[in-house]
Amino acid sequence: MTVNTERDARYYAALERLIHEITSLEHLDLEGVYGALRELCVLLRVAKGVTMFYDSPINEAKGVGEEFVCYDSGEENRLVLDRRFVSPAGIVVVCAVYQAVGAEPFDDVERERVDLIMRTILTYLSKRRLQGVVDRMTYWDNDGFRNLRYFLNRMMELAQAGPLKGWAALRMNLKHFSLINHQLGRQAGDKAMKLYIGQFERALGEDGFIGRLGGDNFVAMFRVERLDEALSVLRGRPVFLRDCAEPDQIDEFGPDDAVTIAAISGVFVIPDDYDFHGPGDIMDKMTSAFQSSKNGRDGDVVFYTDALSLNKEKVMRIQQRFARALKDEEFLVYYQPKVDIRTRELIGAEALCRWYHEGRIVPPLDFIPVLERGYDICKLDFYMLDHVCRDIVRWLAEGRQVVRVSVNLSRRHMTDAKLFEHILEIVDRNGVPHELIEIELTETTTDVEFRDLKRVVSQLQEAGIFTSVDDFGVGYSSLNLIKEIPWNVLKLDKSLLPASEKKVRGSLMFRHVVAMAHEIGLKCVAEGVETPEQMKILKDFGCHIAQGFYFDKPLPVGEFEERLDRHKY
Ligand code: C2E
Ligand code: MG
Ligand code: MG
Repeated sequence: MTVNTERDARYYAALERLIHEITSLEHLDLEGVYGALRELCVLLRVAKGVTMFYDSPINEAKGVGEEFVCYDSGEENRLVLDRRFVSPAGIVVVCAVYQAVGAEPFDDVERERVDLIMRTILTYLSKRRLQGVVDRMTYWDNDGFRNLRYFLNRMMELAQAGPLKGWAALRMNLKHFSLINHQLGRQAGDKAMKLYIGQFERALGEDGFIGRLGGDNFVAMFRVERLDEALSVLRGRPVFLRDCAEPDQIDEFGPDDAVTIAAISGVFVIPDDYDFHGPGDIMDKMTSAFQSSKNGRDGDVVFYTDALSLNKEKVMRIQQRFARALKDEEFLVYYQPKVDIRTRELIGAEALCRWYHEGRIVPPLDFIPVLERGYDICKLDFYMLDHVCRDIVRWLAEGRQVVRVSVNLSRRHMTDAKLFEHILEIVDRNGVPHELIEIELTETTTDVEFRDLKRVVSQLQEAGIFTSVDDFGVGYSSLNLIKEIPWNVLKLDKSLLPASEKKVRGSLMFRHVVAMAHEIGLKCVAEGVETPEQMKILKDFGCHIAQGFYFDKPLPVGEFEERLDRHKY
């Protein structure tokens, strides 16, 4: 190896310049990069340096790509070194170095240095190329919708540009989308969603923007002038089946066959004097309006008002008092009967939580969402299960005719790898026969959660503990998805139950779901049954189990025991 200090010094200086140029965060000076590369090529006796980009290995094989020549001495040359890099996204980058014909081959040091430079360039160039792909993955989801990150970024930009006066923020959930998925199949369902969201986006105008939270949940921001138009789309728009059907399905549909897609939403119209301190507050406000539209009490669109919001103080108060309240057993189990409408017999009950605090009863919607922000909800659920078990054991000892009781478990439990063991421990510690316990869980939208859900439900199933899908019809539900998990019961959300049979479309859907559920082998429970008309629908459509104010509200334990003893309605 020849020692040449001056050449070494120049090499290190040029390398340093190259690295400095290509890692500069402010701006990229291509001339600077090329200058450093040229100097390095001369120093290392390189006649030509070339970088090739291919979008995919297939295009590489075809030779279809872009070529960048960073240096060319013009001499006749031969390839001496090359390096190939394939990114996880399939982009191929190849660096090639040529020496003049007849030139003395690289010695070990030169070879090492040339290789280091190639690797430096590769890392850097492939990163820049990948940036485009990364941007895509950062701001779009797998189905081609803008994601939450994009939405929050846009909101931040908007807020930085000036006051948010004149803007509105909205959160929405498509109604009965599960059924559309089921009717059309998942792929056509996705397309229908895309077409519908496209209409919604157009209604928002040029500067409006949306983000998808997951499943059929979206958020949007737009100018208030656009509100009426946006809400009109949310009230319902037809999507023609031919436009979203798979090629082999198209013939099944006539040109006028359509599904109407609609959504429930919560809107926060940003007040003129609004003081922006981060997107969290706007998200919270539209979400609290959205939650109350979901409860179905205030209609399909709910506007945010201060009274709606669980203000920060209230949230903190609940979080602070929770531990103490749990210890003092301030949480009470109320039981809402489930009735077989054919025999009018009491056949089960759902345990619902009430907080008896400072002389008044706090309903769950006032504190469960707060507890669900963290893991406190899990402690409450286990407390409820434990208290239900104690009641059952007592009823059995008192010789009562006991029915199966369902207990709600929050989605928060899904991260608990030992969830099944915890449930079993509580049930067995109390000595309750497994078939008297049912666990209500809500559906899930992500694949990871789906796997966990499947595991837990299967374990419960094997142990003889019943399981039910709660609130079916609210989310991105599909019977296909449900078929893959061994549930016992499908609880149809009250929003799925039409007010009367005259509501033709709603009735059709309801009938369809009940029939399909029975086909899969699931029992159906209709929630929120209030009127004789609804009872008639259940009878006509073969949904035999009802839970709702028509029979009883959730009852304190003493009153429920009277129902247990009477056993009939
Ligand atoms: P859910 O599990 O879907 O419970 C059914 C809700 O519908 C109950 O509201 C019940 O009182 C209400 N309901 C029953 N029949 C009717 C009716 O005919 N008409 C109307 N409009 N509503 C009816 P509640 O008790 O306020 O509970 C609300 C939600 O809070 C529950 O929805 C459940 O998600 C949650 N929750 C209650 N207790 C617990 C608990 O111990 N743990 C967890 N994780 N969640 C709970
Ligand atoms: Mg429930
Ligand atoms: Mg429910």
